[in-house]
Amino acid sequence: MSVPHTALAELKAHLQTLTALSGAVGLLRWDQVTYMPPGGAEARSRQIATLTRLWQEHFTAPDMQRWLDVLVPYAETLPDDDDDAALIRYVAREYDRRRRLPTDFVAELSEHLSASRHVWGEARQTGDFAAVQPFLEKTLDLSRRMADYLGPYEHPMDPLIQQNDEGFDTATIRALFDDLRRGLIPLVRTIADAPRPNTTFLARTYDFDTQMTFLHDVLTDFGYDWQRGRHDLTAHPFAIRLSHGDVRITTRFTPDYLNAPLFPSMHESGHALYEQNVSPAYEGTPLARGAWSGMHESSSRLWENRVGRSRAFWMHYYPRFQQLFAEHLGNVSLDEFYAAINVVEPSLIRVTADEVTYNLHIMIRFELEVQLLEGTLRVADLPDAWNDMYEAYLGVRPPNHALGVLQDVHWYNATIGGRFQGYALGNIIGAQVFEAIQETHPDIEEQIAAGEFDTLRGWLTEHIYRHGRKYLPQDLIQRATGKPLSVEPLLRYLHTKFGELYGLSLPMP
Ligand code: ZN
Repeated sequence: MSVPHTALAELKAHLQTLTALSGAVGLLRWDQVTYMPPGGAEARSRQIATLTRLWQEHFTAPDMQRWLDVLVPYAETLPDDDDDAALIRYVAREYDRRRRLPTDFVAELSEHLSASRHVWGEARQTGDFAAVQPFLEKTLDLSRRMADYLGPYEHPMDPLIQQNDEGFDTATIRALFDDLRRGLIPLVRTIADAPRPNTTFLARTYDFDTQMTFLHDVLTDFGYDWQRGRHDLTAHPFAIRLSHGDVRITTRFTPDYLNAPLFPSMHESGHALYEQNVSPAYEGTPLARGAWSGMHESSSRLWENRVGRSRAFWMHYYPRFQQLFAEHLGNVSLDEFYAAINVVEPSLIRVTADEVTYNLHIMIRFELEVQLLEGTLRVADLPDAWNDMYEAYLGVRPPNHALGVLQDVHWYNATIGGRFQGYALGNIIGAQVFEAIQETHPDIEEQIAAGEFDTLRGWLTEHIYRHGRKYLPQDLIQRATGKPLSVEPLLRYLHTKFGELYGLSLPMP
């Protein structure tokens, strides 16, 4: 067994180098959108491109093949849940994937996407779909080519989904989404007919610094470790892991409505809590990250919505918040505030959508991606298809493409297919996880109402966070909740919460 041990030690040392490179790229990116002066932009792009290329070269180095030739058979001799076996399997899959994509193709895609993003940035201002159409046509072509390189597949979207939500495929997600849609559309219609809560007091400017002070205490209570993190302002919020000891979050500010930084910060803290609680034993390996996009979103959405938009949470925090913003909220009761921050409204824009309608925004994008990749929808017909689906699912029709098909950066930033499903998967997974927590800790809501989050974070760490990428998402969900993934917990949660809020008795689908 001495040969595998040497190969394993060499592989781990190599992975340390790769981790250092990606940490450095992460820091350059973080700085690029927080504090970098505009004059640094050009050199910064080159620095990031150079380090990314070095990472790619190191990852696909000939030694990797040599180590994996020894280690893949060795991993089969180890117990199934052995950490080294999980690491070897993970690296072998990733290596195979990277090796399948020709260097010329990767360069062509990256060049095309940076041109696309630029054109999209301007087209979005004017709602000019014709300007992006040829770029999207090429992106679609490149997306199909990527699927072919990564194949074989049942559906061309499968390999693209695999890159962000490993283990999931188009058929599985479609089945989940079909079930969810059947439950959601009647719920949205019933709520739309009910009286709308008053939200006028939200449409004010809530001072940024005061919100950040409040959030500092909330995030501390959640268990965010400030010795290993920080909280800064950006245009598009994100969480980023630079190392086990450095997991940062950013937030944005909406001046005329109470949304940001409050809810985006809670959302990003959910991503950061995941990363801060991955086992330190995995540091320096690719297992030291949250388990793909849907699992990650399950954590961020759980902390943002299940906690941060719950009545229990605000029972504890509202008196202080009301005092901090006495001029806006002095006469607003807890229940009025709770109803307002949970208002359900079929709308045109995904990023500001409520908990009930949000998933429908995702399903529209997912279904359009499927049709584009299958070739049953042409890019030229995408805007009409988009508008028709908004009308069918949400009962609203975009008056222009800026408020419609041009609103998201995703199709200008990466392939068409594989990116959007993670958001809705996150809601589905998060609801199932929370039900499992309630079964073990029936008093979890009371703990939240007391500003106590140790049990919640502790359960998540024990069952999900600490494992990093050791298990594939569906395996992790089965282990954590004892059940395969299903949409029923999410439908139960939404029917209960919004049935109470809107005074409706809603039959479960
Ligand atoms: Zn997120």
